[in-house]
Amino acid sequence: MCLFCRISAREISADIVFQDDRITAFRDINPQAPVHILVIPNEHIPSLVDMKPEQEGIVGYMVRAATVLAEREGVAQSGFRLVINTGPNAGQSVDHIHIHLLGGRPMQWPPG
Ligand code: 5GP
Ligand code: ZN
Repeated sequence: MCLFCRISAREISADIVFQDDRITAFRDINPQAPVHILVIPNEHIPSLVDMKPEQEGIVGYMVRAATVLAEREGVAQSGFRLVINTGPNAGQSVDHIHIHLLGGRPMQWPPG
């Protein structure tokens, strides 16, 4: 099992802020903003490139959950950013799809 599969199975501890039968959300161990939460599917999907058509619904569910978490964390009005790093050039370091929810500070555009 990969690192994030182990976190969703609660085999490795993490600061889990939401979990249901489809997804798990937990605080990033190396936060890049005052709010930095990762939202993952419980099912192992390595990256967007590997996603099958029948799996596309989970992404909408993850985006909706990230938005509800942004509201709960108090950054929905000030603004937040959702990021899915995919592949080497984007710096994807864990091969299990995850949405970064970043908020609580102004952010630069374009990203680095
Ligand atoms: P990526 O670079 O793949 O887009 O994002 C992976 C993220 O996972 C990084 O922001 C990194 O800090 C986070 N991360 C890596 N290992 C762990 C861990 O064991 N626990 C938690 N909570 N986050 C982790
Ligand atoms: Zn996995």
